[in-house]
This record gives sequence, C-alpha cells and structure tokens, in this order.
Amino acid sequence: MTERLIYLPLGGAGEIGMNAYVYGYGRAGKERLIVVDLGVTFPDMDSSPGVDLIMADLAWLEENADRIEAIFITHAHEDHIGALAHVWNKLRKPVFARAFTGRIGQLKLEEAGIPAETIQIVEPRPHAIDAGPFAVQFVPVSHSIPESSALVIDTPAGRIVHTGDFKLDGNPIVGEAFDPVLWHEIAQEGEGVKVLVSDSTNVFSPAPGRSEATLAEPLTKLIADQTGMIVATTFASNVARLKTLAEAGVAAGRSVCLLGRAMKRMVGTAQETGVLKGMPGTIPPEEAVKLPRGDVMLIVTGSQGERRAASAQLSRGKYLGLEMKEGDSFLFSSKTIPGNERGVIRIMNAFSEMGVDVIDDHDGLYHVSGHANRPDLEAVHDLLRPKMLIPMHGEHRHLREHAKIAQAKGIASEVAINGSMIDLSGHVPQVVEYIEAGRTYLDGSVKIGAMDGVVRGRIRMALNGLVLVTVILDEQDQPLGDPWVETMGLPKLGRGGANLVDQIEDEMTDFLNRASVKVLSKDDKMDEALRRIARQVSMEEIGKKPEVIVVTSRLTDE
Ligand SMILES: [Zn+2]
Repeated sequence: MTERLIYLPLGGAGEIGMNAYVYGYGRAGKERLIVVDLGVTFPDMDSSPGVDLIMADLAWLEENADRIEAIFITHAHEDHIGALAHVWNKLRKPVFARAFTGRIGQLKLEEAGIPAETIQIVEPRPHAIDAGPFAVQFVPVSHSIPESSALVIDTPAGRIVHTGDFKLDGNPIVGEAFDPVLWHEIAQEGEGVKVLVSDSTNVFSPAPGRSEATLAEPLTKLIADQTGMIVATTFASNVARLKTLAEAGVAAGRSVCLLGRAMKRMVGTAQETGVLKGMPGTIPPEEAVKLPRGDVMLIVTGSQGERRAASAQLSRGKYLGLEMKEGDSFLFSSKTIPGNERGVIRIMNAFSEMGVDVIDDHDGLYHVSGHANRPDLEAVHDLLRPKMLIPMHGEHRHLREHAKIAQAKGIASEVAINGSMIDLSGHVPQVVEYIEAGRTYLDGSVKIGAMDGVVRGRIRMALNGLVLVTVILDEQDQPLGDPWVETMGLPKLGRGGANLVDQIEDEMTDFLNRASVKVLSKDDKMDEALRRIARQVSMEEIGKKPEVIVVTSRLTDE
C-alpha cells in the first residue's frame, strides 16, 4: 500500500469563521495528522439564539485523536484560536504557536483550567517543528493582528504552504512586514511548492490592498479637527490600529484612555511579548473624567455592536463615569462584519440622538482590510508557483472564484468545503472521501450538536410561543377538576377580546367531559387531542399555532 498526503477542512471552508484544518500523511486511513487552527464562529439571534459560541464538529478528529501529532495555531484571532480551550481536553496534543499568539492562547487555557505550558512557544523559520512525517515552519505574514503566520509544511510528498490569514503589507506598523524575498526563497527550495492552501476572503476585491501605514495621515487629521471628546473603536486585536489611533490622539494634544478588557489584554500581551513598541502612554478612566472633553480620546471595544462592549455601553449612557455629549465624535475605524449591521446601526442611532457625530469608514479613509485582495492573491500565486491551489478561508463563492483564478493560470485547483478529504499526492487534487462535518454549539456550559434539535426547539418557542397544559386523572381515568393552562410569549386576549387561556381551558373541559375512557386512558391519545385543541383555539383567537406541552398526571391505586 502506498502512502498519501491528505487535506481535510473541518471548519472555515465554505464559511468565514471557525477555522479548523487537518493535514495527513501515511497509508490510507492510517495517516499521521496535524491540525492547523481551532477557531470559533459567533452565534446570531436568527439561527442560534442563546448559544454562546460555535465550533467545528470535531467528532472525526476526536475519534482519530491517537493519530494526531500536533496542533499549530497561525494567529490569535478568535476564528483561529477560540475553540482551543474548549476542545483540547478531547485531543490532548502539543500545541505550537509563536510568542504573541501563544501567550493569548495560554491565557485562555488557564481560564479553562488547562496548564499554560500546553502551548509551546516557537521561533519562526528557519526553526522547524518535527511532527511525525511533517516538518513545520512558522513564516511571518502581515494581517490585522500581530505575528500572524503562514505555515510551510514539508512532507515526504512535497511542500505545502498554508497561508493562514494574510495581506501583503510592506509596513504593517506593528509586527513583521510581508517579505517577498523570503517567500521567493521558500518557493525555490527543493522541488518548490506542491500545494498552496490560501486565504480567499477578499478574492472579490479588485484593487490591490492598502497598507496599515496609509491610515496615519487621515486619522491624525480627522482627530486634530475635532473639538469635543473623540471616541474611536476598532477590533481589540488590531494592535497596529490601536497604536496608530493613540499616536493620532497624542499628536492632537489629547490624553488617550483605553476602555475594554479585550483591548487591554491585547495591548498588554503585545508589549509583554515585545511585538508592540512605542505605544503612547494611556490614562485610566478615572483621570479621563476629570479632563476637559477636548483633551480626551477614548479608544474602545465593540466595533461590531456587541451589546456588552464599551461602545454599546457608551451608547446607552454613562460608562465608568464617562458620557458622550453633543459636540463629541465617535469613529468606527473598522468594517462591519456581515451579520452585525443591526447592532452597529443601533449604536450609531443612539449616538446620533445624543448629538454625537458618527464617522464610519464609508470612504475607505479610516480602515484597511487584513486580507489579501485579488491582485495580491495573484501576486502570491506568481511568487510561489504552486502545482496545486486549494482555496480556504471563504464562503463557497469565494472558494469557487479563487479556484477559477488558479485554473485560468494552469494551476490545478479544487473547491474543498468542510468535510471533503482531498488527496494531494498526485498532480491534481482529488476528493477521496466525505467526513461528517458540522457545527458544535457551546450552549451555557454544555456542548451540543447544531442538529440535535435543542436550538430548533428554542427557535420554535421563540417564534410561536408556548402553551402548557396540565391535566389530572383519577384512578378510573376520569378528569379530576378542570385542565389548567398557562402560556408564555402569547397575547392574553384574542382578537374578539376573549381571554386566550380561558378559551383553551373551556374547550378542553368540554372535550374531557365528552371523551371516552379509551382516549382518557392513553397518554399519547390525550396528548394528541389536547395539543390539537390548544392549537386550534389559538389559531381562532390569535392567528398563531403555539408550541404545546401537555402534562398528564394520573393518580394510581397504590
Ligand atoms: Zn485573522
């Protein structure tokens, strides 16, 4: 039997979020495995109400845990590292990351009661980590968080480049620039790059991406022009942006105050691990309160409208003694991720009502993306000259477009969505198997499958309301008193003004008085009949069919 090289995305391919990729080398079904990234996706009210976090379904990986050599984390964004602390106990393998990423991960593990040393901090290329048949090097790339890395994965079947999230930025302000010379070297070594597995997020953006450095001038000018207090928000992990914003504030003679736990943790970790240098000093909120408004700049969390973050708190009123007023300005130095628009717009309107000027990035002056645009992706294809390209980190439409671009250049490509196992051993990628790949929800403190029906039931209750029916039957299966109905999430009165609960109870009493012992003695028949009555009466009275729970209590002779 011959050995093969496989790639298996379990999350992040066909969606943006919860990245989890597997590579394997060995005899079919016995390949030794490495895992790249273990991230989360965030729930929303429409499809996953009440859920805390969403992760890839790792059942296949857990079943094959004895084949896993190691886990590699490319960078500290939640969609790449957020699941690690929640799933590590089932995998229990060494985790490798660079200093900043590793430190962020260690803090998360410690919070989950897992020893920090689980994550081993490693140096970038030329250092390589041997993991079974794999030798893995971390190679710096630029992105919207410090120290993002691509992985160069050498295998007996050839070299894979897994880009992680990246953009081409020669001057990213914090962290390492994208270094074309280094990447040229990587492409030239040995037999070159066999497979490029690449970020596809911005494949539809036609213009070359802009550098983080282009923001300093417009931001400095904008902040200098404000007279009241200025508040700016961006992603807490975008340390370069925090630095640019803080420098712009200081240049305008303002004292800068950071608000939000996530932001302080990112800045603190970036300083501690040496990736952030020269960050202007900041003041605590107690001091900011005492200064004239025009002398203060706040940099806050909550650019995506998150309800508990500092932005949302300020939009609702006083927060840590600070309050927005007419004449102040609020800047979104960020992009609203699709799905978050409603929360962001709610905050914008709340500020607008206070007389605060809201400035967003509609003209592209105050934010740049962390992902490579189409011409940048093509530049990387040309630089690395891979024999195959597998698009990742994108919705289906992104993956398909990226595959088309590769194929047009004569690079063999395949759209590989979550669960598709691809054999990379030959000259073209081949789908060899489909693994069950879905989503796991962290719901409170319990993990549930997205298809388990828990959230489906929750959505049905939310949409339809709930009727609870209690019936007591005596030893002869005769009703003891009248049935008793309670509702949740339903109007009290029907369209004719009658009380809904009374109407349902009356119909049920009638039914129980007429019903035969044959029906009354069987739980399932009773359940069915009472459910139908509750739904029919509700339909007549309020035009809705609610969810119904029937509780039948039977007295027995004993
Ligand atoms: Zn990222």
